Amino acid sequence: MSGMNTNAIVTGASRGIGRSIALRLANDGIGVIGTATSLEGAKGITDELDGKGKGYVLDVSQVDSISSFFTSIKADFETPLILVNNAGITRDNLALRMNDDQWQSVLDTNLNSIYQVTRNCLRGMIRARWGRIINISSVVSRMGNAGQSNYAAAKAGMEGYSRSLALELGSRNITVNSIAPGFIETDMTSDLGEDQTTALLARIPAGRLGKGEDIAALVAFLASSQAGYITGETINVNGGLYMG
Ligand code: NAP
Repeated sequence: MSGMNTNAIVTGASRGIGRSIALRLANDGIGVIGTATSLEGAKGITDELDGKGKGYVLDVSQVDSISSFFTSIKADFETPLILVNNAGITRDNLALRMNDDQWQSVLDTNLNSIYQVTRNCLRGMIRARWGRIINISSVVSRMGNAGQSNYAAAKAGMEGYSRSLALELGSRNITVNSIAPGFIETDMTSDLGEDQTTALLARIPAGRLGKGEDIAALVAFLASSQAGYITGETINVNGGLYMG
């Protein structure tokens, strides 16, 4: 539970990990402002939140879409003091074959977006002298992953950004942390073949892929007042796949 009666933005709340985070925060009594890239997705979020929040359209890779989103939420919600930067994509390819679009779209959606969305929330948090910024990174930011140089670069950049922001905002009672999930069962990992999944499971001490709820539980804690002394961290949630 948050120590304050507040609202949370969860980007990419229509599916996968973001959906689990949105439902968990709403269940904990936080007003959830969830986002999807389509009207249909936004409506689905509103329906699922069942009066505990609302869905909006947002493309985090587009600055214009970010400004419209922040204008629209003002009409419905008080200043959000919790921000979960969750929206993300993969466009995998070996570095030798990677094209500019694969590189740029991943950097725009997973890294530049964090800077653009977060800056819109900072004034409100500073004024309230309370805030929680939680960025969803990935185990590959530290492990690396063949075929994901674009994605690993974006997520490593996100973690460096988080640590710097934590230094700037610590005295304002605003914490900034990253969560690095391992392999979680969502659409993003649904195209792993049987052989790949078997090989992967052999490397995961917990013996299973993660669930959205495994990530949502940590988000709920980091968003709470109990976690006020944790900042600038990247916390692994990966079943033991990587322990760096
Ligand atoms: P997912 O199931 O593919 O869902 C992605 C979410 O992001 C959807 O809600 C999607 O909205 C939204 N999204 C995509 N592009 C967007 C854009 N340009 N603007 C705004 N929203 C956008 O992914 P997931 O597995 O839940 O991943 C969520 C986060 O966890 C990502 O940052 C990912 O990198 C990270 N992560 C995932 C795993 C894993 O194993 N699944 C592991 C480590 C880290 P629409 O529904 O409208 O498309």
